[in-house]
Amino acid sequence: MGGDITALEQRLVTTIAKNGAIPLSAYMDLCLSDPDHGYYQRQNPFGTDGDFITAPEISGLFGEMCGLYLAHMFELSGAPDRSAVIELGPGRGTLMQDMQHVWKHLMPDLVHCPVHLVETSGQLRTAQRTLLEGQVSWPITWHDTTATLPARPIFGIANEFFDALPIDQFIRRNGKWYERRVGLIDGGLGFVDGRQIAADDLQMPPDTSDNTIAELCPTGDRVVADLARHIACHGGAILIIDYGKKGKIGDSLQAVAEHKPVDIFHHPGLADLSHWVDFAALSCQARSAGCRLIGPVPQGRFLMRIGLATRAEQAATDADPQTRRSLLAAIDRLTSPAQMGEAFKVALLVPDGDGLPPGFDENES
Ligand code: SAH
Repeated sequence: MGGDITALEQRLVTTIAKNGAIPLSAYMDLCLSDPDHGYYQRQNPFGTDGDFITAPEISGLFGEMCGLYLAHMFELSGAPDRSAVIELGPGRGTLMQDMQHVWKHLMPDLVHCPVHLVETSGQLRTAQRTLLEGQVSWPITWHDTTATLPARPIFGIANEFFDALPIDQFIRRNGKWYERRVGLIDGGLGFVDGRQIAADDLQMPPDTSDNTIAELCPTGDRVVADLARHIACHGGAILIIDYGKKGKIGDSLQAVAEHKPVDIFHHPGLADLSHWVDFAALSCQARSAGCRLIGPVPQGRFLMRIGLATRAEQAATDADPQTRRSLLAAIDRLTSPAQMGEAFKVALLVPDGDGLPPGFDENES
């Protein structure tokens, strides 16, 4: 694209010039999900040729361990009849494929559950259909939102899904909070201050200093509330894995193109936009709907506690030296604190109750 303005950028500049600045969440929504120019609609972002690489694309062992974990939760719940398997934001479908592979050997009951995928991108739905059809025993059902999931116990996963949902940001100036909107600065896109928001509405601690930024993710809150109501009523367990933070404070919005950070207004629709998920907010929604969000715990610790190292050793035993080396590199990438092991967090949404399932520790939840 060079320095050219994208079609989406042109449209945004024209609309904002005519109607005024827009909420950040509206900007993110257009950049990621616009039917013609949205990032997830038009290209394959994953893997070494894409813009970023996700855990399931690093190693099949990630999906295997998640599949084993969900099989355990399914068993603990009494292997309820008429359950459904779900995934939110399945990307290319790799994670579901790896989980199905494990279930074929260890938990055939889960292979015989209908698969429901929540995915808005037409292009990625096609990729998921290509990879998964023929591997699952039911026709797959796709959903635009969690509101239409079937009235059954649900067992499933959301990996790097919540970080892709649009957020709103707020900034404190002279003791008052203002919405941050996307407006025009010298004819180009940039942040401008929007309307003033009462501190009580944001539930901010009174001692925050000026220029502090806070974030809310109304769509993420709604999705967890939907899932929690569903699980409180029908049962189930959902693993939620994402870059995580606790609380609303901080500017976590980031844009990535071709594995490099770029400005968030750089070529709208061509860069991935994401944020760090506020697990405290998700937990609050879960509680209000009568569920428990257990964790979060760092991904590295979770994977090691549920036996990734042992599984990797097994896999390495029969492998040639080259495969063994890449296996160990993949494990390091998934678990070491300097890579994905600490910044990524794992949480588990389950019906209200006591006790902690494997992988979670009392001190951390
Ligand atoms: N879970 C995959 C892909 C993560 S990328 C992996 O780990 O590799 C985010 C995924 O969420 C993509 O499939 C994207 O199309 C989907 N997505 C983003 N916003 C969405 C929304 N609002 N509703 C449903 N799916 C969405």
